[in-house]
Amino acid sequence: MTKEEVANWIQQLMKDNRLYSFYKSKEWRHLKEEVLKENHYECVMCREEGKVSKAVTVHHVQHVKKYPWLALSKTYEYKGVEYKNLIPLCHDCHDKVHGRMRYKPKPKPLTEERW
Ligand SMILES: [Zn+2]
Ligand SMILES: [Zn+2]
Repeated sequence: MTKEEVANWIQQLMKDNRLYSFYKSKEWRHLKEEVLKENHYECVMCREEGKVSKAVTVHHVQHVKKYPWLALSKTYEYKGVEYKNLIPLCHDCHDKVHGRMRYKPKPKPLTEERW
């Protein structure tokens, strides 16, 4: 599928309130499996903190609803630089990135002892 076809497909699903069927599609399931495998089924956010957690899901950095043409794209480009669009996450980290746990990013060392 071209990016345009993907975008049309997703937009139609959103119109019909059936976006869940994207996550059930074999295109997405294959891609998800591929991304998990490439990352050894490890959560990338935990890995950054030196922890090892089993990834259970693959998160869209550029959310599907906002960027439907990137739904099946492993990377995206911003100002000529390529970034990862699909990242494997464990359950907790996935909740965090979606703000479901009132997650506040850790303060940077610079601002840490200001008062
Ligand atoms: Zn994690
Ligand atoms: Zn997500």
